[in-house]
Amino acid sequence: MSDTRILVVEDDEAIGAELVQALTSHGYRAMLARDGFACMAVVRVESPDLVLLDLGLPDVDGVSLCRGLRAAAPDAVIVVLTARTGELDVVVALDAGADDYLTKPFRLTELLARLRAHLRRRPASGERTSIEVGILRLDLLARRAYLGPSEMVLRPKEFDLLAVLTGSAGQVISRDELMTSVWDERWYGSTKTLDVHISALRRKLVFKGEPIAHINTIRGLGYRFELAAGGS
Ligand code: CA
Repeated sequence: MSDTRILVVEDDEAIGAELVQALTSHGYRAMLARDGFACMAVVRVESPDLVLLDLGLPDVDGVSLCRGLRAAAPDAVIVVLTARTGELDVVVALDAGADDYLTKPFRLTELLARLRAHLRRRPASGERTSIEVGILRLDLLARRAYLGPSEMVLRPKEFDLLAVLTGSAGQVISRDELMTSVWDERWYGSTKTLDVHISALRRKLVFKGEPIAHINTIRGLGYRFELAAGGS
């Protein structure tokens, strides 16, 4: 079992129990709070890594609770679960500090995929928060990449891919490993998406007209990120 603590805040007993059971069976340490009061009590004691917050609770307004949670647990990921489909509610919840939302009913597989994505992006204490290879620097918290003084314009998945490649610069990383770490799920279909993103990164790893790094294709094995000669 991992040490990742997830607090489920849900007043519906059946949904709450189902979520806790599913999270536990996926290796998380799951806790349940049935109302806002219990939620804040658990947060103070357990400092969860992620909170799944039902917006419709009996004792408090979900959005206010979200704001309180954000203040009490600034590092926790907050994912709002809402039966409300109004776009405004979602915007208000995100403004109140939520990181993401899911509209009920949702598929468990989708919830788990989102949780994995959020938890992976969130560096645990002691984990690195930046990567520097030559003049390339990645700020993993802000999710921004720089070539010398210039910020690179990267799409989210390009950033994730670059982080994985540079995090193991000089080593071969298999296509499977890249697909799994960047696109969450096991990839049953084509890996063309990966090729497209690799090509985009190759085009963008250029500073003052010179390539600063190579993403080498290692036939039958995967890819290897290497600084270009003079790229340091
Ligand atoms: Ca509810």
